[in-house]
Amino acid sequence: QERDALFRKEHNIHVAGNTVPSPLTDFEELSSRYGCKAKLLRNLADLGIKQPTPIQRQAIPILLSGRECFACAPTGSGKTLAFVCPMLMKLKPASKDGVGAVILCPTRELASQTIRECKKFAEGSKFCIKLMTKQLIRKADLSKFSCDILVSTPLRLKLAIRKKKLNLSRVQYLVLDESDKLFELGLLKQIDCIVKACSNPSIVRSLFSATLPDFVEELARTIMHDAVRVIIGRKNT
Ligand code: ADP
Ligand code: MG
Repeated sequence: QERDALFRKEHNIHVAGNTVPSPLTDFEELSSRYGCKAKLLRNLADLGIKQPTPIQRQAIPILLSGRECFACAPTGSGKTLAFVCPMLMKLKPASKDGVGAVILCPTRELASQTIRECKKFAEGSKFCIKLMTKQLIRKADLSKFSCDILVSTPLRLKLAIRKKKLNLSRVQYLVLDESDKLFELGLLKQIDCIVKACSNPSIVRSLFSATLPDFVEELARTIMHDAVRVIIGRKNT
């Protein structure tokens, strides 16, 4: 515990919450501590990703332990890998059992950027990673739709749920990315509809952003259970 505290201090990681899992010292620990497949580690190495960033060191073990979290770390600090890595480690690839994970992004641009990142990390694997597009929503019925990771804006996802019977009851991970913007854009009703549709009782929800305004933290607390708060550097810079 004391070692963890020192290590966090060294990496400017601030945590709050009940029994927070130890931060990662390196990516190798993903295989020794969590049984990560060699393929994912090789992909990271091929991408020139050698050392985990502070947010990755702390958020990955939290999510792998099945704990919910809200995390705040600067732009460009590798938040995408922090929430995608646990998905790629825990989800069964090419599952036909509905949707495995949902990543919500405030805009379509951010959604396409996120999907490009996800695909890079999953390169050469069987993971099915999809963007909720206009074409998909035009389909008559999405009740049988399945993929491992689904990236969407709140509006499109809400339409798919309400009008096309998209089933999110099997979702194991729900991420609200750039959550400060998600909430600022007044997407609360849409997000609420999505959170309700993700009805799996063992779902792990998380929230990532570059700033963590008090109102976002308050909203986050209303949807999350025993969440860990992770802040890299200072809270709102
Ligand atoms: P954020 O969402 O925090 O703004 P991104 O997830 O978009 O940041 O990551 C920014 C860039 O850093 C991406 O190109 C990503 O591939 C790269 N990256 C992620 N993790 C690492 C790492 N541990 N080492 C080096 N580069 C990384
Ligand atoms: Mg990001």
